[in-house]
Amino acid sequence: MKDSGLKFETRALHGNEARKESHNALRFPEYSGVAFDFAKAEDMELAFTHRKPAHTYSRITNPTVEHFEKKLALLEQGSAAVALSSGMAALTTALLAVLKRGDNLVASKYLFGNTYSLLKNTLTEFGIETRFVDIKECDKIAEAIDGETRLILVETISNPQMVVPDFAKIAALAAEHNLILMVDGTVTTPFLFAAKEFGVHVVIHSTTKFISGGATSVGGIIVDLGTCDWSKCPALGKYHRYGQSAFMARLRMEVHRNFGACMSPQSAYLQTLGLETLVLRVRTSCDNALALAKYLRARPEVRDVTYPGLGESPFHDLAQRQYNGRFGGVLSFELENKKEAFRFINSLRLIRRATNINDNKTLVIHPASTIFADCSPEEKAGMNVSEGLVRLSVGIEHLEDLVSDIGQAFQTQQPDHEINEG
Ligand SMILES: *Cc1c(COP(=O)(O)O)cnc(C)c1O
Repeated sequence: MKDSGLKFETRALHGNEARKESHNALRFPEYSGVAFDFAKAEDMELAFTHRKPAHTYSRITNPTVEHFEKKLALLEQGSAAVALSSGMAALTTALLAVLKRGDNLVASKYLFGNTYSLLKNTLTEFGIETRFVDIKECDKIAEAIDGETRLILVETISNPQMVVPDFAKIAALAAEHNLILMVDGTVTTPFLFAAKEFGVHVVIHSTTKFISGGATSVGGIIVDLGTCDWSKCPALGKYHRYGQSAFMARLRMEVHRNFGACMSPQSAYLQTLGLETLVLRVRTSCDNALALAKYLRARPEVRDVTYPGLGESPFHDLAQRQYNGRFGGVLSFELENKKEAFRFINSLRLIRRATNINDNKTLVIHPASTIFADCSPEEKAGMNVSEGLVRLSVGIEHLEDLVSDIGQAFQTQQPDHEINEG
């Protein structure tokens, strides 16, 4: 089957299905074992010296995981992909493959909490410095760049602040200074954000979110979009002889292999299944989120709604241009204070109190007391995480049921009923 020219929806279903499975199974099976049999010692030597591709050991490569990787590479129009045990593993492994002691990177200060902690606490101890900047002002990015800067890291839509980077400007800065532009595209998925067309070099996803098919399993992916001139990346050292495959070569032959944060075949199987319905779920979730953002904006209890789909959002036009006309499934809104936020959250009957996003179910959380609990009040203020802020990750339920649950929660004064049974 030829994959080129097919639409995204079709590629998500049929991409990389050309090779016949040994029993003609229509769905690629889960090979959950560890080891692979070789006929001769010579064949093993060829495999171990990278002269003939073969699966040797499931931490390094596995057929089911590879099937998932190839599908994602195809959806991103990238040159290759590596799947990992989590989104955090993908970020850590990708960064450590292209950075070395003494290097620095410039990152958005609006980041997923654990990513912020990875950069601020963990990588600093290994001599890799992060300069956090407010990416709303591109001048700030330019000011932070110096001779040791190697990389820019941003998220497509940060949460809970919903900040959207201007990729035309940021990609131009990366090109001017020979920097790697790495993007965490988790919340937009390849369906909404065609990273390659916007000058991104490496895109990372936590596949735990939309891609997993409804929070079925934890996973992550690193996709090399084939657009970076890897000869400009000093950390790739001896891997430069692999030319445009240098990044993947260092991941496969060293960093990913040695860290060992591989995706399990079962997760790859589930997430390949998730990919098939990605488009349907993303569409419904984004449509519901936009409708709820408008509904919440009209409620007297709500001080402010942050969602790039609203016309008054400062990121509306940018998101419209960059994200295929949709604005993601996550929104946040501001109630009077922490007490009101807790009261609202505790009064919900259908919407679940859980920390995840882009699940099939709608989930609610109070970011300041949970995801950002480790941060000081100053850090929270700097990241626009206020005490009255509530985050909703909007699922694929019927919109009317979500509206009626939110409506009753605002009306409930004494929330002492039994909630979320069954
Ligand atoms: C969840 C998330 C991550 C981390 O992914 P895990 O799979 O939980 O490790 C990274 N970035 C973003 C934007 C996320 O939402």
